[in-house]
Amino acid sequence: MTAVRVAVGVATERAGRATNEDALHAGGGVYVVADGMGGHEAGELASRTAVEALRVLGRGTPDLARARQVIRAAHARVRALPADDPLRRPGTTATGVVLSEHSGTPCWLVLNVGDSRTYRMAGGVLEQVTQDHSEVAELVASGVVPPQDAARYPRRNVVTRALGGGSETVDPDVFWIPVSPGDRMLVCSDGLTDEVPDSRIEAELKAEPDPQAAADRLVEAALAAGGSDNVTVLVVDAETAAAR
Ligand code: MN
Repeated sequence: MTAVRVAVGVATERAGRATNEDALHAGGGVYVVADGMGGHEAGELASRTAVEALRVLGRGTPDLARARQVIRAAHARVRALPADDPLRRPGTTATGVVLSEHSGTPCWLVLNVGDSRTYRMAGGVLEQVTQDHSEVAELVASGVVPPQDAARYPRRNVVTRALGGGSETVDPDVFWIPVSPGDRMLVCSDGLTDEVPDSRIEAELKAEPDPQAAADRLVEAALAAGGSDNVTVLVVDAETAAAR
């Protein structure tokens, strides 16, 4: 048996918006970000409801089937929220990692619905581990939009999967990544990734060993870039250690 110790940094800002429709949870082995949408207060309620529902993944050592079950339950809870506008039902993205075990090995259980992102930095190299569920990501994947034009694509914020929203069912991505000592996981909303290129994110994460200071630096970079969307950043550093 091995145990994983983590150190976490958390930062969120509503930036130019009237409210912060992002929500997060970081603790008890669950590190998730949700970015809500919907009229009035619906987006805030949607993201908070989703994060609250996902927290139960911190109990025990969930597997992929359990994660899908909990995500479906979160989807149902967001769908049950009242809608101010019947054409714009409350919805939210959700992504992040849960510390668990697979075949006796400590693993990150990665989950994703929508266009918030989970990255891993290992050996100083940043890699996006989730795939965006967005119109622009699909157009890039099919070759219609060149990757270098994705950041300027006018409908880049249109998501193709969400918790809640208009769809009756949810099709989450869930998968394992083994935990390696020194892993630095980054979980963030599009308020970061729309404003700050991956190369700059990687440089900031390399330059700042303290996870809280790193999270603060990334949010500051998004604001300095003129970010007008809510921005949320979780930095989760892992050390594996032999259990006593
Ligand atoms: Mn956003």
